[in-house]
Amino acid sequence: MARGVSVDTRRGALEANLGAVRARVDHACAAAGRDPAEVTIIAVTKTFPASDIRLLAELGVVDIGENRDQEAAPKAAACADLPLTWHFVGQLQTNKCNSVARYAHLVHSVDRPKLVAALSRAAMAAGRDIGCLVQVDLGGDGRGALEAGEGDLEVRGGAAPDAVRGLADSVAAADGLHLAGVMTIAPLDRPAAVTFERLAELAAAVRQQHPQATGISAGMSSDLEDAITHGATHVRVGTSLLGSRPPVR
Ligand SMILES: *Cc1c(COP(=O)(O)O)cnc(C)c1O
Repeated sequence: MARGVSVDTRRGALEANLGAVRARVDHACAAAGRDPAEVTIIAVTKTFPASDIRLLAELGVVDIGENRDQEAAPKAAACADLPLTWHFVGQLQTNKCNSVARYAHLVHSVDRPKLVAALSRAAMAAGRDIGCLVQVDLGGDGRGALEAGEGDLEVRGGAAPDAVRGLADSVAAADGLHLAGVMTIAPLDRPAAVTFERLAELAAAVRQQHPQATGISAGMSSDLEDAITHGATHVRVGTSLLGSRPPVR
């Protein structure tokens, strides 16, 4: 929070933003003939302080998303008294799994077998059961970049589409993990709707084997309507809720 901005001012801004995002979700659901209760809004709070998470919680937000363990772990600890669900949505290194397993309820970025094994071990060690979404890269070249908003291009990550069902089987069979669905980040070089339509097809294929894996994590500030049209159950919203992220030093 900028110096001099009072807590009340910040609360008011977050409340207005939350109202606008909820209205967008409601509108998109109405257009798609869907119930807004099917769509979870995850507040992606990366780069914003734990005090914002506290204000969001006061406003009724329970789902919080973070993309870096170094930042997420202390914020989760600072908010441990709040009844929040923590979503880890960023690229995850195996050496961070033990830390992430202590606070994350869902990991949206499971994209390789080594990560399934490491998360499984970490979940068992932490005595927790962690929901996993298989992240798929629908960018075609497999090396897409996400404009992460920190002024840097970030590797988008994700498994190749033909690897998704195998990874889903591995997650479903792993101790300490349960398969919760699929996730993608739309590449910027084509209409998001095209990507989300393909994700919906992959999600249906996964559900044939794993009917409980109903989650579809798709859509961010710029494209949540397209995601909801194509069945998203989780939208990950940063900028539209919290404002522009400061550039990386
Ligand atoms: C930052 C981030 C978001 C939120 O992006 P906005 O465009 O700010 O809404 C969503 N998903 C992931 C994986 C992110 O890293």
